[in-house]
Amino acid sequence: MIISYELNINIIWNRLTEMTEFNDPDNWFEIHRIDNYLYTIRERLDLIEPRFLTKYINNYLIIGEHTAALIDTGTGIHKISAIINKLIADRQLIIINTHNHFDHVLSNHEFSEVYIHKLDYREIADIIDVSYLEDREIESYARFNYKIPNCKIMNILEGGEIFDLGNITIEILHTPGHTPGSICLLSSENHLFTGDVIHYGSMYLPHNYENYDKLLVELKSKIGNKTRLFPGHENYNVGIELIDQFNEVFGKIERAESHYNKFLDANVIEFDKFSIIIEHKE
Ligand SMILES: [Zn+2]
Ligand SMILES: [Zn+2]
Repeated sequence: MIISYELNINIIWNRLTEMTEFNDPDNWFEIHRIDNYLYTIRERLDLIEPRFLTKYINNYLIIGEHTAALIDTGTGIHKISAIINKLIADRQLIIINTHNHFDHVLSNHEFSEVYIHKLDYREIADIIDVSYLEDREIESYARFNYKIPNCKIMNILEGGEIFDLGNITIEILHTPGHTPGSICLLSSENHLFTGDVIHYGSMYLPHNYENYDKLLVELKSKIGNKTRLFPGHENYNVGIELIDQFNEVFGKIERAESHYNKFLDANVIEFDKFSIIIEHKE
C-alpha cells in the first residue's frame, strides 16, 4: 500500500512540474551558453507529445559581430523571439529552418522573414497543420485551431549559400534524406548544425532510406575530424563519431527486428544509442 501511495504522489508531482513548465515561459526554454557566440535553446518535445519518442528539441543561436542567426524556431509553445531579442541586442537577425517538421518551425510566425530549402517550403507555405496533436489540448496551438500560420516572407535556399554574420560565416549544405529539403549548416568555427539529418535518440528515416549512409559519408567528407556536431534533438556538442556510430547501426537495419508504431505510422527498431524510425509504406 505504501509503495502505491508513493507512486501516486510521484505521478501527481510529475504532472504538476509538467504543467508549470508548460504554462511558464520562464521555465519552458532551457538556455545553455556554449561559448560567447553560441547558445542552445532547448524545449521538451516529450511534454508536448511523448509518442514522438524524443525528449529534447535543440534550437541554436549564433551571434556574430553585426548579425545573429537563429537555427530553427522550435515548438511555438512560448515566444522564442522574446529570448532571442534579449540575447542579440541590436544585431540584425536571420532565421533559418533546417527542415519543415513542426517541432522546428512553429515559432516562424513570430518573425518577419525565414529561410528554408526550396524542397521543404511547399508543405508549410501558408499554414503548419498540427491537427494530429488536437487530443493533447495544447493552448498555444488551440488558439490557432491547430493550423499555425507561417511567417509572411519565406526565403528560399538551394544549398551553397554563405551567410556572413560579421566575424563568423555559415554555409548551407543541402543534405536531403530526413526530408527532401533538409539542410546542415557549417560555421567557420568548425561547428556543424545538423537538424534532424543525424542525431542520437529516435532518428526518422523515409521509406526510401537505402542511401542514407552514403549521404552521411559524403557529409563527413565535407567537414574536418575535429568538427563539433550540434543536432536538432537530444545530445549536442558531440564529436564526429556520431556519424560512424549511426552508420554502424544502419548496416544492421535490414536484419534487425522491428515493431510497428501506430501513432508514428512507422516501423521502429531499437538499438543502444539510437531508435531507428522508418516511415511505413503500404
Ligand atoms: Zn524532422
Ligand atoms: Zn525534429
